[in-house]
Amino acid sequence: MTTLTLQTASVLVVGAGIMGAGIAQVAAQAGHRVRLFDSRDGAAADAKTRLATTLDSLVAKGRIAADAAQATLARIETISALDAATDAGIVMEAIVENLAAKQGLLRQLEALVGPDCVLASNTSSISVTALAAGLAQPGRVVGMHFFNPVPLMKLVEVVSGLRTDPAVADAVFSLAQAWGKVAVHARSTPGFIVNRIARPYYAEALALLQERAVTPAVLDACLRGAGFRMGPCELMDLIGHDTNFAVTNSVFEANFHDKRYAPSLLQREMVDGGLLGRKSGHGFFQHPAGAPALPVAVHAAPASAREVTVHGHGPIADHLEQAAIGALAGQGWGPAREPDSPWIGLDIDGARLLLTDGCSADQLAASSGRADIAVFDRPLVRGAAGSALAYAVAEGASPAWQQQAPAWLSALGFAPLQVADSPGLVVARTVAMLVNEAADAVQQGVCSSAGADAAMKLGLNYPQGPFEWLAGWGAEGIVSLLDALDTQYRGERYRVSPWLRRRALRR
Ligand code: NAD
Repeated sequence: MTTLTLQTASVLVVGAGIMGAGIAQVAAQAGHRVRLFDSRDGAAADAKTRLATTLDSLVAKGRIAADAAQATLARIETISALDAATDAGIVMEAIVENLAAKQGLLRQLEALVGPDCVLASNTSSISVTALAAGLAQPGRVVGMHFFNPVPLMKLVEVVSGLRTDPAVADAVFSLAQAWGKVAVHARSTPGFIVNRIARPYYAEALALLQERAVTPAVLDACLRGAGFRMGPCELMDLIGHDTNFAVTNSVFEANFHDKRYAPSLLQREMVDGGLLGRKSGHGFFQHPAGAPALPVAVHAAPASAREVTVHGHGPIADHLEQAAIGALAGQGWGPAREPDSPWIGLDIDGARLLLTDGCSADQLAASSGRADIAVFDRPLVRGAAGSALAYAVAEGASPAWQQQAPAWLSALGFAPLQVADSPGLVVARTVAMLVNEAADAVQQGVCSSAGADAAMKLGLNYPQGPFEWLAGWGAEGIVSLLDALDTQYRGERYRVSPWLRRRALRR
């Protein structure tokens, strides 16, 4: 089997739903002859009619030429029986997400197509190894996991099961590239790359909401402030809580109920109560209105201080120093600097504003013997004026410090949002957990670090990939934050990836 064979191969798409129709469009636009089959009468023809409308509107918008649209449509033939496509070079299976149905189809196909035909599945959660079980040629079964909407989303996870022939995976990888996609290799493990590494984005949000540390609107604002296009609450409302809960459950079950992936009681209650998000009109937010705007908090300038010292080193400490120089400019003096300090943040006349290291403000107050302590979240997007940033103040802090902490954060250029004194606040714990999950995936050979970065940025529009965050933060800091969370919560959830722990030893 060679790459060339697939690049000119005739394509059979089975299942003409959302994904199958999108795959047929992309294959036909790339010049392939496409046959489209669906077991429901009329479904393939309906899909082709919808595609004609889509292509017309692309022509009207000037995105494609009229003759290219016509040629694309002419390359797609709807068929009413699978044996009309026995000469296919690759089958793209995009039927219902059900193991027995997919296995049955693959067996039927194996008897119809030639020995060199690749059998690719668009499954989002079923094991490719299980799909291939019982086939005479299991080596030709591979996952080709597109994202919705297929013509727009760049990522394709090329998923290999235990028996997938590497030449088949490579051929499908090249085919995806020829279709204008970014392909990443993945090993068939629960959730593949994207659906696995993304679990903490939802899980940490749900955990914080369950402990009533933050409201959905504030939580979303904090993560948008860190560069994510959508906060987890609005995203879960968009995906649908039923779907999101089902994916979490399937990853949890597939991992033999590893507590790390435990679904959320809060989300189950929402699903049971029909609060499914946009599709039912209610989720974390009411729809179509969506998230309420947060009240704009105006903070007075901080009271004049006698002495301000910026502690710690690295890009965040440097940024704080520059911001503090700006904040103090009106007073005619600048901050001192303690670059060797073990913590990052500001000391303002003995009161401390510290970058979260996973300890709560109360813990830091107890260990430092000071009452006026506040912690702030990890600012991932620095320099963007007014980025939302979570902070928490120690319970025993003076009323003056409770006002001065947000006033200082505001003077430093952030939009401070108060949350409960939860370890790791919002962004730091979420990003640390995303990196941790990605590190485990790499250790287990699910993907490469470059593959994980590409997958998360292209599959979910993350502002950076997990290994890019790791490079900016450092393994040591992430490990110590996760260890602090583990100490607070006990249990398997914040178990540090051995890969990450080893990385932290390599200074
Ligand atoms: P869909 O319900 O829109 O379409 C499935 C189609 O398959 C239907 O038209 C149905 O009639 C047809 N079908 C069912 N059994 C069949 C059979 N035995 N033979 C032929 N046709 C059959 O579903 P979808 O959202 O397009 O999902 C299809 C696959 O893609 C699933 O495996 C799903 O997990 C995966 N996927 C979906 C998404 C997504 O966002 N929807 C993203 C990635 C992957």
